[in-house]
Amino acid sequence: MGSFKTVAYFYDPAVGNFHYGPGHPMKPQRLSVTHSLVINYGLYKKMQLYRPYKASAHDMCRFHSEEYISFLQRVTPQNVHGFTKSLSHFNVGDDCPVFDGMFDFCSMYTGASLEGAVKLNNNCCDIAINWTGGLHHAKKFEASGFCYVNDIVIAILELLKYHPRVLYIDIDIHHGDGVQEAFYLTDRVMTVSFHKYGNFFFPGTGDMYEIGAESGRYYSVNVPLKEGIDDQTYFMVFKPVVQQVIEFYQPSCIVLQCGADSLASDRLGCFSLSGKGHGECVKFVRNLNLPLLVLGGGGYTVRNVARCWTYETSLLVDEQISNELPYNEYFEFFAPDFLLHPEVVTRQENANSKQYLDTIVKTVMENLKLLEHAPCVQMQEVPPDLLSLENTEEPDPDVRNNQNDVDNRIEPTEEYYDGDKDQDKDDLDV
Ligand SMILES: [Zn+2]
Repeated sequence: MGSFKTVAYFYDPAVGNFHYGPGHPMKPQRLSVTHSLVINYGLYKKMQLYRPYKASAHDMCRFHSEEYISFLQRVTPQNVHGFTKSLSHFNVGDDCPVFDGMFDFCSMYTGASLEGAVKLNNNCCDIAINWTGGLHHAKKFEASGFCYVNDIVIAILELLKYHPRVLYIDIDIHHGDGVQEAFYLTDRVMTVSFHKYGNFFFPGTGDMYEIGAESGRYYSVNVPLKEGIDDQTYFMVFKPVVQQVIEFYQPSCIVLQCGADSLASDRLGCFSLSGKGHGECVKFVRNLNLPLLVLGGGGYTVRNVARCWTYETSLLVDEQISNELPYNEYFEFFAPDFLLHPEVVTRQENANSKQYLDTIVKTVMENLKLLEHAPCVQMQEVPPDLLSLENTEEPDPDVRNNQNDVDNRIEPTEEYYDGDKDQDKDDLDV
C-alpha cells in the first residue's frame, strides 16, 4: 500500500570537508562516507538529487536571535580571541568550537532542511532526505551539543505555512531538547522524543513529565529510556507510542530525526540498536504515508553512521540492497567484514525491564487521552515561502520553485566524487 514515493535527496559535496577540530567526536566526514555508499549502491537512480540552497542569516533568524546569528557570521578561528565574552554568552567554545567555515557549514545543513520543507509544501516530493541536518540541540540564543543552528525548527516553521499539524519524531539517543523547547507552548507541533535519560546523560532534560505548557500542554511527548536497549524492547515502546500519537493528533506531515548515536557501539552512545532495528523505525514512519522530512543528527562511529543512513535511504526508496558493501573510496573503513549489517556487538546489559517500559507506555497513553483530538487550526493567509533565493521579484512561489528545480537539480556525474578527494583521513572513526 502506497509503496511508490517520490524521494528528494539533498546533498552538498562540500559539507563533508568541514572539521570541528582534532579529537572532536562530531565528524562531518561521515556525511561524505554516507553519500559515497548511497551513490555506489546505485540508490541515486531512485531519487531526485539536489545540491541544496544555502540558508541566509535572515532564514536562520526565523528562529534564532539576530545577535546570536550575527556572532556566528563574524567569529572565526583567527579573530576568536576578540570574542571572549560572546563565546560564553552563546555557549560556543568546547562542545561547539569555532572552526573554519562554521557559518557556511550551518548554511548548508540548514538550507537543505529548509528546501526539503519547501519541496514537501509544494508537493514536489513525498519524502525529502537531508542526512546533513537534524541538529536538534541548538537553542534560540545559543549553541548546544555540537549544534549551532537548529535546522529542524526552521524547517518545521516552513512546514507550518501549509500544514495545520506537524509531528516531530526523534530517535537520536539524546533528548530533542531544542525542538521541544521551540514548540513547547503550541499545539501546532507535537514533539515525540525517544532517548537515554538519567545519570546526567546529556542534555539532562526529557523525563516523561515534560508534557508541554499552555496551549502546548500534552503536545510534548517524552520517552526516557535506560542504557542497553535493544531492537525488540525499543519497538515495544516506539510502535505503540507513534501509532497512538498518529491516531490522536492526526498530523498532516512528519519530520523524523534519525540520529545514529542510538546504534550499538556508538562512540558516545550506550544503546544496543542494530542498523536493521534503527531502520525499522524509519520504515514504520514511512509506511504511515504522510509527507515526510527525514534528517540526520548525532552518530559518532563513522562507519556505522554511514551504514545506517545508507540502509535507511534504501528503505525510503523501497529498494533492496546487498549486505556486501559496494567498492567505494572509503572501503577500508569497513574492514574486516565489509558488510552493511555486521554482527551487533553490545557492550551494555539492557537496563530496561518490561515493567519499566510498560509504565512509560501507559503514562504516555494516559497523557495522549487528555489532549483534544486533532486541534483544529484556522489557517490564516499563508505568508510567502521562507526561501527568498535570488529571484525576489518573482511573486509566484510555484514558478520560482520550478526555476529553482531546474537550476539546482544535479545529475550524479563525476562532480559528486571530486568533492571528497582532499579529505584528511587521519583522525577518523575513533
Ligand atoms: Zn545525539
